[in-house]
Amino acid sequence: MLKREIYKLEGAKVVRDRRFCPKCGPGVFLAEHEDRFTCGKCRYTEYKKREKAEPSKAKPAAKQSKGSKSKTSK
Ligand SMILES: [Zn+2]
Repeated sequence: MLKREIYKLEGAKVVRDRRFCPKCGPGVFLAEHEDRFTCGKCRYTEYKKREKAEPSKAKPAAKQSKGSKSKTSK
């Protein structure tokens, strides 16, 4: 009975933010760490996207935007 209610709560708010393990499938959550998610079952690790960290090598669009502004090729 209690378990059921707890699960319900998690399903309402926590689960939405959490990620499932792509290897273990739905039902197995990835544990969230500061910069990554890890699966407790298979040790799968997924690194978070860091947008403000690592400024040293985080400008992939710097080259393209130079000189070719109006050119949008995809
Ligand atoms: Zn897993």
